[in-house]
Amino acid sequence: MALIVQKFGGTSVANPEKIKNVAQKVLQCCAKGNQMVVVLSAMAGETNRFVDLAQQMQAIPDPREMDVILSSGEQATIALFAMAIKEAGNDAISLLGDQVKIRTDKMHTRARIQSVDTDLIRKHLDDGKIITVAGFQGVTEDDDITTLGRGGSDTTAVALAAALQADLCEIYTDVEGVYTTDPNICSEARKINRISYDEMLELASLGAKVLDIRSVGFAKRYKVPLHVRSTFIDNEGTWVVEEDKKMESKPVSGIAYNKSEARITISKVQDKPGIASKIFTPISEKGIVVDMIIQNTRAGDLTDMTFTVPRTDYEQALQIVEQVANDIGAAGVSGSKNIAKVSIVGLGMRNHAGIATTMFKVLAEEGINIQMISTSEIKISCVIDKKYTELAVRTLHEAFGLDKEHPAITS
Ligand code: ASP
Ligand code: MG
Repeated sequence: MALIVQKFGGTSVANPEKIKNVAQKVLQCCAKGNQMVVVLSAMAGETNRFVDLAQQMQAIPDPREMDVILSSGEQATIALFAMAIKEAGNDAISLLGDQVKIRTDKMHTRARIQSVDTDLIRKHLDDGKIITVAGFQGVTEDDDITTLGRGGSDTTAVALAAALQADLCEIYTDVEGVYTTDPNICSEARKINRISYDEMLELASLGAKVLDIRSVGFAKRYKVPLHVRSTFIDNEGTWVVEEDKKMESKPVSGIAYNKSEARITISKVQDKPGIASKIFTPISEKGIVVDMIIQNTRAGDLTDMTFTVPRTDYEQALQIVEQVANDIGAAGVSGSKNIAKVSIVGLGMRNHAGIATTMFKVLAEEGINIQMISTSEIKISCVIDKKYTELAVRTLHEAFGLDKEHPAITS
């Protein structure tokens, strides 16, 4: 008998029929002798509806009350799901985040899970019940309801799987798994059968949306095997697991892109200690997260500094940097919102030479100028003009053979 945590996203529980369908799937798995803990999202569109309602009350909704309304969507789906199971003649119980005691910090609307109590779930499992837990929510030590940030139900599922030492965590969604790139812009994109935690972390942080990045972090830390798969098509999906030798045989596993950043350049700043800190401290004090940073070396004592920020923070960051430029006597500030970051990710980069040069050559052959480059052990990112995103993704996908069968990604 295995203990399995399954999570179903909003499109899988979008209406009563779909909730009944999910109940049937869970019952099938239960009939094989497994113990089941089922984490559900709100019905598709519900959380957005609550955001909209809240904004009609207050321009910036009170964070505590925001979490009270945001968390209510999941409360509805778990109750309906438990009813569907009972209607089918089995026993189920729904539990909210505060009943399970999913403890979080106090950062309303983007809280982090600190601990999960498993006693209540174990007790009900021992009684032979199917447990359904509301995703995306937790409770502070002061008993205030929190939510984990949009897409947070994945994290609830993996955190529960880790705490319960479940044998498996299955993430059911409306796509068949993790793809070599976004199938919406590249028709050659293929489902990846197995991918390492580290590659998945990179892909999630670089723009792939199929899994909430924090859930992958949890899965890696607690070695929870993750299976991302479709609710509607009964095929194997993508396994996100610990790396093995085979995975390294392919230089590139996936290509991600992100069109939601902007670039800022501050030119002719003095090349001396303390300047970077003067530029970036006021930006981080406003909670703006800087992604790539490039500082040029120059002949003489002046240099340029270029960095990227989320596009939604662009105007504010520009204002701050203009002020700093004034204070430190820089020549000027410029920027662009028309950028995209295209990244290739693969464990195989560690031992295949020339991956970066292939990437640069492929982009050059298409006449695409690279504005910024950053690398880690298993990824290379290039910032380019946004209008070339699709072209860059498609040509790189082909150049690295991701459109073809490969033992490392197909077995
Ligand atoms: N319902 C939440 C959202 O829409 C959490 C989730 O679905 O994972 O963001
Ligand atoms: Mg999601």
